[in-house]
Amino acid sequence: MRLTQVSDNCFAVLNEENRGCDANSGLINRGGGVVIDTQADLSHARQMIGLFGEVWPGMPKRVINTHEDGDHVWGNQLFEDAEILAHRTTPDRMKRAADPKEVQKPLEGVGHVPTRLPLAGIHPGAVAIARQPQQDYDFDKINLVLPTSLFNDRLVLDLGDTEVHLIHVGPCHQAGDTIVHVPAERVVFAGDVILRQCTPVGWTGTYEKWLKALDLIISLDPEVIVPGHGPVCGIEGAMEMQAYLEYVREESEAYFRQGLSSLEACKRIDLGPYDDWRFPARLYLNVERAYREFRDEPADAPWDSAKSLDAICEVAKARGIEVEF
Ligand SMILES: [Zn+2]
Repeated sequence: MRLTQVSDNCFAVLNEENRGCDANSGLINRGGGVVIDTQADLSHARQMIGLFGEVWPGMPKRVINTHEDGDHVWGNQLFEDAEILAHRTTPDRMKRAADPKEVQKPLEGVGHVPTRLPLAGIHPGAVAIARQPQQDYDFDKINLVLPTSLFNDRLVLDLGDTEVHLIHVGPCHQAGDTIVHVPAERVVFAGDVILRQCTPVGWTGTYEKWLKALDLIISLDPEVIVPGHGPVCGIEGAMEMQAYLEYVREESEAYFRQGLSSLEACKRIDLGPYDDWRFPARLYLNVERAYREFRDEPADAPWDSAKSLDAICEVAKARGIEVEF
């Protein structure tokens, strides 16, 4: 984990390994301090607080959750006196998307040798993928702390001499997707609307909405974008994400018209320039999402997580790449 200054008053803590749970956090060093996203467990959150302590004395007055996923909100409980801001849909969604027990369900029993083998027979993907977050993340002691201040489309925070704009752009990755724009410093904290060197995942929403959100980020003309995962970038990060989404949607459509299943399409799609991004087998979720749109299914239809992990595992095996999520 590394602290980096991205403008006069904006900082980022980057989880450089860029594994599934390795989300980034931001800090705006004005008006009592604003932290953006709180990491995926308490030890990572404490590390992040320690690093921000180098540039901001004491705990920040405000926390922004860019969306409802656990890897961005599970450190909330360490910010006891802070106002926690998020889009109005986020608290309800968090109860489902970021319930530590729910998230672990498909992985239950994986740590126990006697149950691992039979479980691997039923859900090979879940078992293969479960090893990863257990490396140095601990979800046991997490109490879900929900946002305390909600907003609709936009909220402007006045930090004395600096304005901070919270703009709801979801649903694209998740329902609550919010970007944090600091116009005077030309910085955007993008949450998981932008992932860098890492395959994105869209849990709810549409391709169209996501592409529009990226258009909006580009139109803000930021000098620096702090993505939800991966290294800091400029607008090329937004453009690359658009190109990936457009490419996958186009490829998916061609295979959909041929009558192939989303899984079979994933085995055939050439990843081209994206094959060195982390977690290439997440492609399954993006192709399946495109298929849902072609079948006119609701954009918020739930995912069967164990089944999806198994499909990702099958795609990885078929392509001869590491099974990871
Ligand atoms: Zn994330």
